[in-house]
Amino acid sequence: MCAVWEQPTLVEHLPMKSLVLRLFQIPIVLFLTSTMSFAQHIFPESLAQEAEHALSFYPELKETKIQIRLKRNIKGSTMQARPTFWSLFTRKRNRKYLILVSETLQISDTTFTTEHLDSDILIGWLGHELGHIMDYRERSSLNLLWFGIKYLFSGSYIKEVERAADTYAVRANMERYILKTKRFILGRADISKRYKQKIKKYYLSPDEILALVKQREEDQ
Ligand SMILES: [Zn+2]
Repeated sequence: MCAVWEQPTLVEHLPMKSLVLRLFQIPIVLFLTSTMSFAQHIFPESLAQEAEHALSFYPELKETKIQIRLKRNIKGSTMQARPTFWSLFTRKRNRKYLILVSETLQISDTTFTTEHLDSDILIGWLGHELGHIMDYRERSSLNLLWFGIKYLFSGSYIKEVERAADTYAVRANMERYILKTKRFILGRADISKRYKQKIKKYYLSPDEILALVKQREEDQ
């Protein structure tokens, strides 16, 4: 990152050229300070620790292009994982995925600032989203387009894919974090019953997660 600030000696003697170069450097510097990039993965610096930790559970995604981006508000959800539209027209291995993270988490009547959430809870949340990407990468582009439509209209389909994402995260040994995220939502009195019902309806329960862990250990 420091290299951006280094000026070739020649430029110091050419004020106009130097000025033009500096103008071009401003956006580059802004970009570098607000996001971090490791090979195929890009994420905001404020989530670097959590993103790196969650990604470390998925060695299969090492070569998969994933960008984690903060968004002021995501309608009706906390995080969202999806392929980028144009990359659906490329080969599967060139596909790019985006995980949007809401800057504030509006859960019913309570607003949480993402930065103030416990790190483990964020890791659990990201682990679930990476579970979706594990699911997406096996699907054809046509299947993903159909997936998007069904997700909008079918409750039983939402349940199927949300539970699949949780299952991928447990298979990746992320149960500690997934359970912490779930217990945070289900255990807080200031989170509405309606939101808790949604979590219970569509996602794996803590007991089901523990059963999956047991099964995983037996299979090993
Ligand atoms: Zn999900």
